[in-house]
Amino acid sequence: MVEAKNLCMKYDKSERFALENLTFQIDRGEFVFFVGSSGAGKSTILKLMIRELKPTEGTLKVFGRNVARLPRHRLPYLRRNIGMVFQDFRLMEERTAYDNVAFAMIVTGASRKEISKRVPHVLGLVGLHEKNMTRVCDLSGGEQQRVGLARAIVNRPAMIIADEPTGNLDPGTSLDIMTLLRSINLRGSTVLVATHNREIVDRFKKRVLYLENGKLVGDEQKGIYTHVH
Ligand code: ADP
Repeated sequence: MVEAKNLCMKYDKSERFALENLTFQIDRGEFVFFVGSSGAGKSTILKLMIRELKPTEGTLKVFGRNVARLPRHRLPYLRRNIGMVFQDFRLMEERTAYDNVAFAMIVTGASRKEISKRVPHVLGLVGLHEKNMTRVCDLSGGEQQRVGLARAIVNRPAMIIADEPTGNLDPGTSLDIMTLLRSINLRGSTVLVATHNREIVDRFKKRVLYLENGKLVGDEQKGIYTHVH
């Protein structure tokens, strides 16, 4: 599903490598945490996966294709197959939960009928059935992130990428959101989560890729947050 080989990334104006010689593989259906302190390179990896950036050296394959070599017309296909979840939610705050999720389907050209069937279903999956018509700005942080999750899964992507999805949430709400991500994973999507949340990582006992200053320093199948060298 994801295959990185000697992956290196150096930002244009930067002296040092943001990612240095990363080699790893992620299979279909896995649930993987990327951990590491701020600046370790977590976001950079995620951005390479959706081709927001191109690697300086090495290769990154997603869904079997070298992402850097994808022709421009294939990018919508790549991005439609990856659902993104963000720390700051990135929702249209003045619009309803329903509209936010529906919009992700409209841009793919889905029919009105499909949308009116699928959106309530997905909002139900994240526990928001009664808040479909509530504006995002009137929802709590945890509820807003549920809308973010619904939007990420509405087009049935093969992979979900969440960049610090619980960064703005309290511990209880964080656990709810991560439990939802796990249930999405159990329904078949591969899930990648970049996080600082020690409690969550320790509790879930999933695969952990450890980053330090752009280097992959560990890869544990049932990892805990603190990497032991
Ligand atoms: P993390 O997500 O783990 O906090 P990042 O991937 O954001 O780490 O950053 C990795 C390194 O790349 C850091 O040293 C950061 O300063 C640098 N970096 C990130 N974005 C840019 C950019 N747009 N231009 C230059 N350097 C950047």
